[in-house]
Amino acid sequence: MQILDGTAVAAHIKASLKQEVADLKAKGGKTPHLAAILVGNDPASEAYVGSKVKTCEELGFDSTLLRFDANITEKFLLDQVNKLNDDNKVDGILVQLPLPKHISPDLVINNINPGKDVDGFHPISQGKMLLGQPTFLPATPYGILLMLEHYNIATAGKHCVVIGRSNIVGTPMTVLMSRNANPGNCTVTMCHSKTKNLKEMVLQADIIVAAIGRPRFVTADMVKEGAIVIDVGINRVEDSTRKSGSRLVGDVDFDNVAPKSSYITPVPKGVGPMTICGLMKNTLLAARQPKTIYN
Ligand code: NAD
Repeated sequence: MQILDGTAVAAHIKASLKQEVADLKAKGGKTPHLAAILVGNDPASEAYVGSKVKTCEELGFDSTLLRFDANITEKFLLDQVNKLNDDNKVDGILVQLPLPKHISPDLVINNINPGKDVDGFHPISQGKMLLGQPTFLPATPYGILLMLEHYNIATAGKHCVVIGRSNIVGTPMTVLMSRNANPGNCTVTMCHSKTKNLKEMVLQADIIVAAIGRPRFVTADMVKEGAIVIDVGINRVEDSTRKSGSRLVGDVDFDNVAPKSSYITPVPKGVGPMTICGLMKNTLLAARQPKTIYN
């Protein structure tokens, strides 16, 4: 069994991105600029946005963090997105999800200029991904592809079972793993909350991608010997041995599944750091290309 070390792979990718940005700047090119919007003060969202901004600094990107109260109106937020759309200094826009209940995330995402959609959530980005056209890939699935690529893990012809069908992880993951590419070329099964025989499905998987949001949901009896296990979940559970009283675990029962797997991502330090790499690669791409709405 080999641990897929997200921190180490991310460090490798970030070093090459840092060099690319330095070269770009030396040639008089534009410094990539990521603008992030955070609405409210959900602690997990604060942490995610914080590490994205920190990574920008680390790589030599410019960044802007716009923080707004949870009680802003939808119209106000749309106006802020439009300002960033019109700001030539800004290459990438990310709106940290979830948003307060009175604001439609679909409406907000649909208003981002697709040329600045570095999270890859806009319908144009998702549509292009579906059609196999070059575009911004959703950051987490993109990060997983980068991880598989880094470890040179062969995926062609394998059976990949994705658990979860969200627009940001599960669904794009099924598209990317089935397309005619490397990584890809898998036979893909998508499972979700209404799947009846989940255990039998997952037992058939050569590659499992767990994106459910339930702590240790995938147990050892659901996993075939030698499976490749990608754990996307981030769940906070109580842990009285920790000073904070809690810790993060994935959607996979790591301790019992790891011995059966050929490769497995830990939580934390697995998919999380790779997601930031996906976002940073998209932002650099955005800085390099014109931002027409047809990007
Ligand atoms: P989501 O809540 O939008 O989707 C969860 C999916 O799980 C749903 O599609 C649902 O059908 C499925 N599901 C729920 N219960 C199920 C069950 N009993 N059996 C089978 N399927 C079931 O969540 P999401 O946004 O896709 O995120 C999933 C997890 O990944 C969360 O823990 C989230 O925090 C984490 N996440 C991590 C990263 C990262 O960078 N590591 C990025 C995004 C999300």
